[in-house]
Amino acid sequence: MEKKWQDKWEKAKLFQADHDEREKVFLTVAYPYPSGAMHIGHGRTYTVPDVYARFKRMQGYNVLFPMGWHVTGAPVIGIASRIKDKDPWTLELYEKVHKVPKEELPKLEDPEYIVKYFSTEYHNVMSDMGYSIDWRREFRTTDPSYKKFIQWQIRKLKNMDLIRKGNHPVKYCPQCDNPVGDHDLLEGEGVAVNELTLLKFKVDRVGDDETSENELYLVPATFRPETIYGATNLWLNPDVEYIEVKSGAEGISGNGADVGRIDGNNGNNGERWIISKESYHNISNQIKDLKIMGDIDPKLLIGENIVNPVTKKLHPIFPASFVDPEYGTGSVFSVPGHAPADYIALQDLKDNKELIERYGLEDAVNSVEPLNVVTLKKYSGIPAKDVIERLQVKNQEDPKLEEATNELYKVEHSKGIISEHIPIYAGEKVAIARENIKQDMIRKNQASIMYDFAEHPVICRCGTKCVVKIMDNQWFLKYSDEDWKEKTRELLRNETIIPREVRSNLEYYIGWLEDWACSRRIGLGTHLPWDKQWLIEPLTDSTIYMSYYTIAKYLQNMNCEDLNDAFFEKIFFDKDNNANNNVDNNSNNNINEKLKVDQATINEIQNEFSYWYPLDWRLSAKDLVGNHLSFHMFHHAAIFPYESWPQGMVVFGMGLLEGNKMSSSKGNVILLSDAIKEYGADVVRLFLMSSAEPWQDFDWREKEVIGTKRRLDWFFEFAEKIENIKGSPLNLADIKRVDLTRKIDLWMMNQLYIRINDATNALDGFQTRKALQDCLFLLKKDVDHYMYRMKHIIEKTNNDGTEVDDDLVFVLSTILESWIRILAPFTPHSSEELWSKYGGEGFVSEAKWPITFQYFPMKCTPTLNLQTDSCIPSEVIEKSEEIVQSMVKDINEIKKIVDVEPDKIHVYLAPDWKWKLYSIAADVGKPDIGQIMGRAIGENIHDNKKEIAEFAKKISREMTKTRYIGKIDEYDILYDALDFISEETNAEIIVHKDDSYDPQNKARNAMPYKPAIFME
Ligand SMILES: [Zn+2]
Repeated sequence: MEKKWQDKWEKAKLFQADHDEREKVFLTVAYPYPSGAMHIGHGRTYTVPDVYARFKRMQGYNVLFPMGWHVTGAPVIGIASRIKDKDPWTLELYEKVHKVPKEELPKLEDPEYIVKYFSTEYHNVMSDMGYSIDWRREFRTTDPSYKKFIQWQIRKLKNMDLIRKGNHPVKYCPQCDNPVGDHDLLEGEGVAVNELTLLKFKVDRVGDDETSENELYLVPATFRPETIYGATNLWLNPDVEYIEVKSGAEGISGNGADVGRIDGNNGNNGERWIISKESYHNISNQIKDLKIMGDIDPKLLIGENIVNPVTKKLHPIFPASFVDPEYGTGSVFSVPGHAPADYIALQDLKDNKELIERYGLEDAVNSVEPLNVVTLKKYSGIPAKDVIERLQVKNQEDPKLEEATNELYKVEHSKGIISEHIPIYAGEKVAIARENIKQDMIRKNQASIMYDFAEHPVICRCGTKCVVKIMDNQWFLKYSDEDWKEKTRELLRNETIIPREVRSNLEYYIGWLEDWACSRRIGLGTHLPWDKQWLIEPLTDSTIYMSYYTIAKYLQNMNCEDLNDAFFEKIFFDKDNNANNNVDNNSNNNINEKLKVDQATINEIQNEFSYWYPLDWRLSAKDLVGNHLSFHMFHHAAIFPYESWPQGMVVFGMGLLEGNKMSSSKGNVILLSDAIKEYGADVVRLFLMSSAEPWQDFDWREKEVIGTKRRLDWFFEFAEKIENIKGSPLNLADIKRVDLTRKIDLWMMNQLYIRINDATNALDGFQTRKALQDCLFLLKKDVDHYMYRMKHIIEKTNNDGTEVDDDLVFVLSTILESWIRILAPFTPHSSEELWSKYGGEGFVSEAKWPITFQYFPMKCTPTLNLQTDSCIPSEVIEKSEEIVQSMVKDINEIKKIVDVEPDKIHVYLAPDWKWKLYSIAADVGKPDIGQIMGRAIGENIHDNKKEIAEFAKKISREMTKTRYIGKIDEYDILYDALDFISEETNAEIIVHKDDSYDPQNKARNAMPYKPAIFME
C-alpha cells in the first residue's frame, strides 16, 4: 500500500517545487554522510522536516524540501582500506550491522563505491519512508559542479581575508594520517585541545657528569605555572614505562599566530627529557625529530632529587600511582599548599610505611612541608589543607577530592593574589601572574609548551588513539576574527532558534571558536584552488550549500567544467563583474562563454534562488551546534547580504534504543529499512514523531512501537465503523451538511476544533509530539466519549434498522474527514489510502489543512441559548458536557453510598440570585466575602441576607476551582441529555424549573453549574 502511494506521488510530481506566486517555505536538514546504512535515529532526523513540509504544503505554502549527500572527507577512505585489509571488525560491521550483501562487500574497497552504494541506499530508504523530497535537486558533494561552487566560495572567503596560513595544533589520527573532526571519532567527540606549560626540572644525580649533553629533565605539564614557587616534590608512577627522548634541531613547532610566545621553545634544541612511553605517542607530533634514546626505570629515579628551575631548590621524586601516563608527559610536580590532590597524596605517602621503606624515603618525606604561593581572603596560608578539612576528604580515592580541586582552582584564578614573599610577581593577580610567569620561564628556557586533550581517550573511527599534532602550512578559517564574530552574532539575533535554550549555546560557540583548520591531506572532496596539495575539509564544504539546492537542477544540464566564479556571483548577487582578484585562472570577470547560458536562463536561475532564499529552517542535531550550525551562520554572515541570512534553526536531540545510546559501530542500531519492513513506514513515522519532541532524546522501544501500530489499525477500523453506522458508502467529498442542535454533537465538533487548533499551533513550533497528543490521543479520547454518549442511538440504528441519525453521521464523517487530513503529515500513506477509499478528492497530501470555525457549517451560537454576550461559545459547550458528566457521576456515587436504587431522580437548578452572586464574586475576582456580600446587598439580589452570606462563602470556595463563564441555560442542557443521564443512572430524571416539589428541601443546595439532586 505504501509503495503504491509513493509511486503515485512521484508520477504526479507532487513534491517538485518551483518558484511561483505562492508564499514559500524552504527547509533543509543536514545532509547525511552515507558511510553506512540508515538507522532509526536517522529516521527521526529526516521525518521531522518531512512532517513540517507536508503540513505547510497543506496550509497552501509552496514548500521546498531537498536532499543531498555529504560524501566529502576521510572516513570512507579508512573504511575502504580496512575492507581491503580484510579487517574482521570492519567486515563484520558492514555485513551484520549495515547488512551489505556478501557479493557487494568486496566492492566497498573503493571509497567512491561506498558513497555511491550508501547514498543510493539512503535515497531508497527515504523514498520508502514517504519523504516529500524534490529529488530533482539531489547531488553529491563530489559532483564536479558542486566542487566549482565550493571553490568559488572558498576563494571568496580568502579574498575577504578570512582565510590565513599557519601552524596550529589539530586533532589528528596517526593511522589515517589526517586531521580529524568530531565526525571522524568513535569516542571523545567535543573534547577540547588544551595548551599546557611544561616545566623543566633538571634531574640532580650525584656523580653525574656535569656536561650539558648529559643533563636530563623531567617535564611535568601544568595549567598553573605560577605554582612552580610552591613545588615541594615530583611524582612518578613506578608502574609506568618511561623513556628518554632527545629533541631535534628545530624544537617544538610554533603556532604561526603567536610567534613571540613560542620562540623560546627553540631552546628545547637537543635537550633530553624523561617522559612516559604513552605520552611520546602524542608529543612526538608536536616536537620535530624527537628521538627515543632508551628506556628509563622510574624505580631508580625515585628518591633522587630534581632542581626547581626558578627557585633552584632541590625537590625529591616520590612514587605515586595516580600519575596518568597518558596525560601531559607522565609526571606531576607536587604543590601541596595549593593542590588538594597533592596535599592528600603526601598525607597518604606519609602513612605508607612500606613504600617509604622500600625506597628509603623517610628523611625526604618528613622534610616536605606545603609552601604558600597565593594569598586568598578567608583561607589560611595552606588553602589546600583548608578545603580538604572543610569537605572532609579522606584519601586520594574520595570523590570529594575533585570538588575540592575545582573549588580551589576557581577561587585562586578569580581572587588569588601572588603572596608577598614571592619575588617579582608579589601582589599580582593570579590570572595575570600566571601568563607572565609562563612567558618569562619560556624565555629563560625553563619551560615549554605542549598540547593535550582535555579528556582521554579520543579515538578515531579507525580505532586508533588520536593525538594533537602541530600542522605546518595549514590553512585556517579566521573564526577568531572579531568583526566576523560580530556579524555572525547579528545574524543569530535575527534568527528564530528552536528550542530557545540553544541560543545561548550558539552565542557561546560564536565567541569561543578559534581559527579552524580547513584543509586536509587526504579524503574525498574539493582541492583548495590556490594550494592543490590540500583538500577542503567536510565541515568547511557544507556551510552554505542550502543555496546550492536552489540552483542544482539547472547545473545538471551544464558542462560544469565551464562554470566559473562569475556565474555564481551573477546568480547569487546579480553582480556583472566579479570583484574578486584573480587568484587563479578559474576566476574570470565574466561568465564563461563556453557555458552557453542565455540571459533568459540566467534570469530564471536568479529568480529561483531569490524566491527560495533566505532559508526558512535549518534542522540539525545538537552535537553539531558547536561546529556545523555555527559555521553555517559564520559563512552566511560573511558571504550573503542581510536579506539572505537564514531565518530559523531547529536543533534535534539524540536517539536511544531500548534505553541505550544508538551506535552503528557498537552494533546497537535498528536499520530503518528493517523497521519499515516490520511495521510499515507510517507506524515508524508515527512512533518517531509521538515519542518525543524533536529536541528531546527519543527512545525506540519495541513494545511502544507495537502500541503505535495498534493505534493506526484502530483508525482504519473507526472508518469502517462509520460506514456501518451510515449503512451506505461514505463520500468524504460530499458530506451531507446539517445544522446540529444536540449539545453533544456540538460538543464533539467543538472538541474537534480545539484539537485541530492546538495541533496546528504545536506543528507551527515543530512540536510533533504535542501535535500528536492533541490530534491523535486526545481527539481519540473525545471520539470515544462521543461514541459512548451516542451509544443508545448507534445501537438503535444498528439493531432495528431505524432511520439513520443524520446528525450523528454528519459529525462522524466530519471527524473522519478532518482526521485523515490532520494525520496526513504524520502517516501520509494511510491517510491517502483512507482518503481515496472514502471518496476524498485528489491526494490528501494536497488537501487543505483543516481550519477553525469557518470550516464548520453549523450555526453554533443560536442553538446554545447564550444569555450573556461575554460567553465564548466553545467554553459554554465544554461546560455543558461537563455538567452532564458530573451529574451522572454524582448520582452514581450517591447511589453507591446510600445503597439504594431510586426510581426517580429530581434535579433542581440554581435560582437567578445565585447566578448574580456568582457573577459579583467573579467581578470581585478574589474570595473576599465582605466585598462580595456588600455588593450583593447593595444590588438587592435576594431578600434573605443569611442565605446570601451562606452562598457567598460557598461561591468563594468554588470560584478558585471553577471559572465563571456567565449564566447558561442548565435546563436546556440537562433536558437535551435526559436519555443519556437516565440510561447511565437507571432512573427517571425530572429536571425542575422551581422548587414546588421538594419534599426534603434539597433545592436550596443548587449552585450555578452544580444542580442539586433528590432521589426517591
Ligand atoms: Zn584513524
